[in-house]
Amino acid sequence: AIEVRGLHKSFGSLSVLRDISLSVREGEVVSVIGPSGSGKSTLARCICRLEKINAGEIYLYGKRTDGSSHSNRDIARLVGMIFQQFNLFPHLSVLDNLTLSPIRILGLSREEASENAMALLKRVGLEEKRNSRPSELSGGQCQRVAIARALAMNPKIMLFDEPTSALDPELVGEVLDVIAGLVDSGMTMMIITHEMMFAKEVSDRVLFMAEGNIVEQGHPKKIFSCPELPRTQLFLQRML
Ligand code: ATP
Ligand code: MG
Repeated sequence: AIEVRGLHKSFGSLSVLRDISLSVREGEVVSVIGPSGSGKSTLARCICRLEKINAGEIYLYGKRTDGSSHSNRDIARLVGMIFQQFNLFPHLSVLDNLTLSPIRILGLSREEASENAMALLKRVGLEEKRNSRPSELSGGQCQRVAIARALAMNPKIMLFDEPTSALDPELVGEVLDVIAGLVDSGMTMMIITHEMMFAKEVSDRVLFMAEGNIVEQGHPKKIFSCPELPRTQLFLQRML
């Protein structure tokens, strides 16, 4: 579903991603872990084309997404991205947050979009909040709305960039539960996270990044219980 080959990305003279190659199969759940500044967010942003890349190739379902052959609109349909900050439209109700893009970009009627939106709100347990504004919700509720909003575009891939890092500890669980539900539904996902226990539970594969490289990867059991590299061991010791 995702194929990255020889990806390089720099900001000015700072080389942030150095020759990254990876692939994520349809239905696979891949977690990305690694120290701050190792390039995890930049990798996710490159994959969903929020950043221009300096070299390499990125394919989503066989379509090359770097370069100009595909519009951002096509990418927006394929990939749903969830950030640490929820980025909801503050002036819109929860329901309107979910229906805006499906109406404008997918061309759904208001009725269809609302029907889908209500089903998604039910899925994240927030039907009764449909008329609330984001400012009236807790952080955990906002993030669940953000996930529902991404799903409303019917993406084939979901990318999560530290979806629970901005939340109070007691709100983390409800968001992880929603993500775990997506895992069960067979969604193709890439999850950047500091929640090691969660990564261990839900991932098919874990990538460990350091200094712009994927330095180690494997089954979560292997990465978390017997990592090969000393730097992976050191990172995990600090995290667990
Ligand atoms: P964290 O765990 O703290 O989120 P990360 O692994 O996601 O870290 P990135 O956000 O990808 O790391 O950043 C990698 C490097 O790229 C950092 O040194 C960062 O300062 C730099 N960087 C990221 N975005 C930009 C930008 N827009 N302009 C300049 N430098 C940037
Ligand atoms: Mg980051």
